[in-house]
Amino acid sequence: MNPDDYFEVIAAELDRYADVPDDVLLEIVTRDGRCMWLVENGEEPEWQGEYLSDRELAARICAGCPVRRECLELEFRTAGDQTVGVWGALCDEDRRAVYPVWLARRQRRGRDGGQVS
Ligand code: SF4
Repeated sequence: MNPDDYFEVIAAELDRYADVPDDVLLEIVTRDGRCMWLVENGEEPEWQGEYLSDRELAARICAGCPVRRECLELEFRTAGDQTVGVWGALCDEDRRAVYPVWLARRQRRGRDGGQVS
């Protein structure tokens, strides 16, 4: 799969959350997010570490997170593509690649009454 297709797949996976309110997403992510558990237990990693790239950290920590897509949806809604570090299992470079695809899908969805092809 080429990178453009991969980013389209991720954006399409977020369509299912389009009608979920922000506060519900926030509750889900803060309750079930794997990094939240690490923070609570004093095991938060250094997101911009010297030895591991953010992409490697994302793969390690977010890979097992049960709310990866909810986290990414919330991040796009609340922060767009300008934040740094890892959110929703993607490093900032990958989020900046997915964000315009996600945004275009949402705009089409709005025009087409809730459906995106
Ligand atoms: S996807 Fe990553 S950043 Fe988001 S809640 Fe899960 S562990 Fe935290």
